[in-house]
Amino acid sequence: MHIKDNLEALYREIPPCVKIVAVSKTHPVERIREAYEAGQRLFGENKVQEMTAKQPLLPDDISWHFIGHLQSNKVKYIAPFVSMIQSVDSLKLLAEIDKEAKRNNRVIDCLLEMFIASEETKFGLDPDEARAILSSPAFSTFKNIRIAGVMGMATFTPDERRVRKEFRLLTHCFYALQSEFFSHDKCFHEISMGMSGDYKIALEEGSTIVRIGTAIFGGK
Ligand SMILES: *Cc1c(COP(=O)(O)O)cnc(C)c1O
Repeated sequence: MHIKDNLEALYREIPPCVKIVAVSKTHPVERIREAYEAGQRLFGENKVQEMTAKQPLLPDDISWHFIGHLQSNKVKYIAPFVSMIQSVDSLKLLAEIDKEAKRNNRVIDCLLEMFIASEETKFGLDPDEARAILSSPAFSTFKNIRIAGVMGMATFTPDERRVRKEFRLLTHCFYALQSEFFSHDKCFHEISMGMSGDYKIALEEGSTIVRIGTAIFGGK
């Protein structure tokens, strides 16, 4: 199967109001260009070095989403161009994104990464940690970030009931945070959940952004 066919199949299946981020990590620029030529504009990477290496080699109208664990000291490398950082998991990181976005005269969209899995290897905030960030005095001073919603990764398991439960938890978190902190802010509207193996369940549970790698680019 070609990238173009894979994309067409996904766009037929996934409702048009849901954003598809093509996760291009580990795949070379030529493969990304193939997806671009098939019409894809949103791409996701999980490593700063890989994203900054690829970005200058590809068209400017690509929206780059950062989806991996991000260290504060590396924010400066992606701040000039990144369109959304989906993996915000601390106030310190958010402060750094705000600072670097300001230096670049930009506003950077961010998602709060929530911990929903039962695997300890995964990153993310629990609801109280998210609340602490959103109600902190520092947060109210940030002018160059926009919290656009939440992101989460389900446990890697064939147990669909468990995956569904975790996605449902994320949707629940989204609505709780929305009503507590964003009831007058239409920008808080994204629930990023679902990958190649579980996006169908994620869509049923209210996903607005899916992050799909293997089902577009194939295995490594
Ligand atoms: C790699 C990755 C994806 C895509 O995974 P696939 O199973 O290849 O679709 C989605 N989200 C994150 C955070 C990832 O690291």
